[in-house]
Amino acid sequence: MTQDQNTPKDRARKEFAAVFGRDPEGVWQAPGRVNVIGEHTDYNEGLCLPVALPYAARAAVARREDGLVRVHSAQADGVVEARVAELAPGREGEGWAAYVLGVLWALCADGHGDALAGGLDVHMDSDVPTGAGLSSSAALECAVAAACRELYGLDYSDPQAALLAQRAENAYVGVPCGVLDQMAAMCCAEGSALVLDCRDVMTVHQVPFDPAAEGLALLVVDTRVKHTHGDNEYAARRAGCERAAGLLGVPALRDVRYEELDAALERLPEGDEPDGKPGLRRLVRHIVTDDHRVERVAELVAAGRLRETGALLTEGHASLRDDYRISCLESDLVVETAVAAGALGARQTGGGFGGCVVVLVEEAGAEAVTDAVAAAFAERGLPAPRAFSAKPSAGARRLD
Ligand code: ADP
Ligand code: MG
Repeated sequence: MTQDQNTPKDRARKEFAAVFGRDPEGVWQAPGRVNVIGEHTDYNEGLCLPVALPYAARAAVARREDGLVRVHSAQADGVVEARVAELAPGREGEGWAAYVLGVLWALCADGHGDALAGGLDVHMDSDVPTGAGLSSSAALECAVAAACRELYGLDYSDPQAALLAQRAENAYVGVPCGVLDQMAAMCCAEGSALVLDCRDVMTVHQVPFDPAAEGLALLVVDTRVKHTHGDNEYAARRAGCERAAGLLGVPALRDVRYEELDAALERLPEGDEPDGKPGLRRLVRHIVTDDHRVERVAELVAAGRLRETGALLTEGHASLRDDYRISCLESDLVVETAVAAGALGARQTGGGFGGCVVVLVEEAGAEAVTDAVAAAFAERGLPAPRAFSAKPSAGARRLD
């Protein structure tokens, strides 16, 4: 067999050597993810069902002895330098490198300052599209977490490493994300979906998920719409969910049982916010029904009845469009066009207001669906969406 000189690992090694003038000690990778169902449920301690994508971030890493950290990315300019001992949230000028430095800071904060004291050189290279809701940020963090865990011999399980990476993003980068992205990047397995219970992340539960084996495809359609006003909207919904849980007297909306939803809604104020944001009843209805949809989809998937999940995906989209109100014209257009063109089901995935749509479709009908979506976008003068087939891939690992 001829050695492919252009594997992602070889490329990462070569670029590391070109930037830092020596070889890395290893290359670790962590994937982007797409969430099949269960949206905004993570911070409500609920359920979601991510799969890892065949796109990943790679970290080529070597330890140093002088206390310096140097970070470089094939997708960004320049080398960002810092001293391990001085890492702290809120420092200016770190830009994208904060995702990497944040993981090192979180490790130090978790008692491993001595292990990391010598510093390290890190070169990142990722083919996860950024800002498309496919979690390029968690891929960076988790590749670095996996590298440090092994290089420094740290005793973290995959879920513990995911929580550490989440802490980096929350406290160091300053993004109040739930744990979905990092759990998917650390814990997903090839040919599987992760049934993620965000209240009990330490118990990792996989279900076999292999659309191709059933003659199906899970398409990911990038609407090319970036969620620019997302921060504000995210914070408002998160606060609303917390308020509703308080009014209902439960620790989190996860504790509102599906069977008791109507009674719970009766106890919440009616109507929407004056600015058009959804009122508490809508928020609760979306979260409780989406948790329930995750359970049903996971059961169907485990029973080898993937085809039957399509309708639940489309129902999930209606819920996030009408109740949670986090869709947009382009996402709705993909869902409607795909279903009209024969897809089994479709829904916007990720934080909302654009990003990507997942489409479950018969493999034989996938091209007709992507053609129909492209035509619908062209007809409205919208930039052509990008589509790819998501083969459920492995979580974080060393490349060797
Ligand atoms: P998402 O995680 O959905 O892709 P985020 O806004 O959470 O979107 O994260 C995107 C950010 O992550 C980018 O703006 C950039 O700062 C950082 N990032 C992701 N991949 C890379 C990379 N390969 N090199 C440098 N920065 C990256
Ligand atoms: Mg992200």
